[in-house]
Parts: sequence; C-alpha cells; structure tokens
Amino acid sequence: MRRLSILGATGSIGDSTLDVVSRHPDRYQVAALAAHRNVARLAALCRRHRPALAAMLDADAALELERSLAGSGIGTRVLGGVDGLVAAATLPEADTVVAAIVGAAGLDPTIAAARAGKRILIANKETLVIGGALFMRAVRDGGATLLPLDSEHNALFQCLPPGYDGDAAAAGVVRLVLTASGGPFRTRALADLAHVTPGEACAHPNWTMGRKISVDSATMMNKGLEVIEAHWLFGAQRSAIDVVVHPQSVIHSMVEFADGSVLAQLGHPDMRTPIAQALAWPGRIESGAPRLDFAALAALTFEPPDLARFPCLALAYDALAAGGSAPAMLNAANAVSVAAFLGGRAAFPAIAATCAETLARLPNRPVVELGDALAADAQARQLARQILDLPPDAGGVPLAA
Ligand code: NAD
Ligand code: MG
Repeated sequence: MRRLSILGATGSIGDSTLDVVSRHPDRYQVAALAAHRNVARLAALCRRHRPALAAMLDADAALELERSLAGSGIGTRVLGGVDGLVAAATLPEADTVVAAIVGAAGLDPTIAAARAGKRILIANKETLVIGGALFMRAVRDGGATLLPLDSEHNALFQCLPPGYDGDAAAAGVVRLVLTASGGPFRTRALADLAHVTPGEACAHPNWTMGRKISVDSATMMNKGLEVIEAHWLFGAQRSAIDVVVHPQSVIHSMVEFADGSVLAQLGHPDMRTPIAQALAWPGRIESGAPRLDFAALAALTFEPPDLARFPCLALAYDALAAGGSAPAMLNAANAVSVAAFLGGRAAFPAIAATCAETLARLPNRPVVELGDALAADAQARQLARQILDLPPDAGGVPLAA
C-alpha cells in the first residue's frame, strides 16, 4: 500500500492522479491533500478520500475548510500557509508526494519532500527551472526517488536504460528528442497573434490542462521549460536536447542511441498514462486512458519548430546556455506576463517580448543557494511588471483555484 500526499490536488494533474488512484483502492491511499484556496473542491475531496491532513496556502480558506469539515467525523487535520504545504509534503505517514502545484509556489514544498527522502512524482516543472541544481542536490542528499510526470519526461524515463545516471556516453545515449504539439497557434497567421484571446490560447488541440501551462503551450514556452527540465532530470547537455513538432501528440518523446536506434513512448494524449506509470513504477497498472488505435491514427507527422513564430523556445535554450539565474528570471518574467495575458492586461506577443527584455536588462548572477534563485525571481517579476505597466502586486496573482 502506497500512501500519497497530493500537492495541487484541485488542479488538472491532481484530478487525473485521483482518478487513477480511485481505480486502485487496494494499492493507494490518500494521506494528504494540498491546494491554494478552492475550499469547496478540497472539502469534497477530503470527504471522498479522507486524508489525515489537508493544507491550503490561503489561511482564510484553511479556516473555512476546517469549519466545513467540522462535525463530519472525517478527522482530517487542516493547516494553512506555506508551513501547511510543507507539512503535507513531509508528512511521515506519506511515502509518495505528487508535486502538482503550478508555478514557483511549488518550490518550497517540493524541496522539502526531497529533503525528507520521499518518492516524488514531479509535474511542477517550474521547481526544476528555478532551482534545478539545488533541487537535484536535495534529492540526492535526502535519498529521495524522482519520477517524472510531465508526459515528455515520463516518456524519456521509459525509453532510457533502467538506472540511467546521466552518463550519456556510457549508456550510448546520443540525443533526447522532446515532441511538441505546436499548440493552438501552430498554423495561425502571424499577424493574428496580436489579437488572440485567453480562451483561444487555452483551447489546446490535444490536451486538457490548467490555464498557465495551456498558455505556455501556445507560446511554446512550455517546451522551452521542458528543455531545461530535461537537462536537470537526465543530466543532458543543451546540445543533446532537441525539439520536434509532432501535432498528433501520440509520440510523447524519444531517445536516440549511438547505433542509430530511436526508442519512443507512444500513447493516447492523457496524463493518466504517465501518472499511472510513475505511481506503479517499476510495475504497471490500469490508468483509465483510452488505447491507441493505429488504423484510426493513420499518420504521425513531424516538422521543425518555427523559432520566429515561437521565440520563447529560443529564449529558453539561451537561458539554459547562460545558466546562473537566467532560467529563474525567464520563468518569473513568463509567470507575470502569462498572468497579465490571462487577465486581459497584455497581448499574446507581449509574453515573449517581456521575457526577452527582462533577460536582456537584468544581470545574470550565480545561483549558489535558494535565496539567490528567489532574489532573481523577485527582481525579474518586478521588472516584468514595470515593462508591462502593471501594478506592483500583479503577477503573484493566482492562476488557479
Ligand atoms: P492547475 O492550474 O490545473 O492546478 C494547479 C494546482 O496548484 C491547484 O490545485 C491549485 O490549487 C494549486 N496551486 C496554485 N497556486 C498555488 C499556491 N500558490 N500554493 C499552493 N497551491 C497552489 O495546473 P495543472 O495543469 O494541474 O499543472 C500543475 C503543474 O503540473 C504545473 O507545474 C504544470 O506545468 C505541470 N504539468 C501539467 C500538465 C497537465 O496536463 N495539466 C502536464 C505536464 C506538467
Ligand atoms: Mg509536457
């Protein structure tokens, strides 16, 4: 029996995780649930899964949750604030932590889970982008096990040799190829992009996801963040990580070996597959995802990414090459501009432009400890708000419940 702490339980990944878990009550038990401030949803999840602990970042929401559960006989302890999230991430009764908070807010609890030696199923790519080296060190020092949920990285994990330790030469690994759908604007006239709405940007052709990652997919910043994520997860050099646009989203990524062999992982685009793979690893369980029907698929197509259409991808490659605080600053400028776009305060092309300007204007500093990454994050958020002419507190704006 595995006991799970699910951080970001009310979101898209949280939802898919609980769907898989509910199919296997003999294998998985929910020990903790954490979210931002959606009391109604978390209360319903607590009634259904009866965790020992529920945490909400928002202190008022935590109080309201406590009131809502009072007298129900469920016995769930409720905590608020970052301490509550960290308590959920390190709960002694939980052996497995699903890191599915969106954005930089995932950093503290995910690092805490690493230090506590948990088995971590990581979806929160921003943690790796902001503090990759520090997080990977915490994983090693804490004796934690890291299993990727992001579909591309889960695919790479499945294609790489078991126990792969980042020594590409020893394993004969030549190249990691991340597939990208190209998002909703792959074939949209470039001139139209100045007028696209948040609704259009969030209407992904193949995946249903939270709003922030949906916009990141539309700009292809998501793929850029995933290149950085792959670098940290698999110890791969920038030059050994390629991106290919594959609009059907059936091949989730590929590994090329020295002998010319390429291994790919395929599946219906449904996050329950990588979630089930990571939950059951090294075993396999039913996920609920539909099966692939090759005759119905007919064709899998590929094209190179268009960097003029998707400048965010190039910015992410550059930030990885620059190292230091560049990835943290890129992530921060992106978070602010995506929030502004979703809030109707910035046009779609302003996302890439703001990220580029922020990186060009701020000095790149070494990241030795977490404080360095957080300082770079704060400085980049501030400059991005200034560039976008936003009030000083905008961009910490919650993007989800
Ligand atoms: P979502 O917006 O649907 O859900 C986000 C969750 O995080 C919610 O439960 C919300 O309550 C919680 N949250 C938000 N801000 C918080 C804060 N400040 N403190 C505590 N909790 C907070 O997002 P999602 O699509 O589920 O994505 C979650 C993460 O997984 C992201 O990092 C995303 O990049 C990654 N990811 C998602 C998918 C997908 O298919 N949705 C695929 C790959 C990776
Ligand atoms: Mg992905």
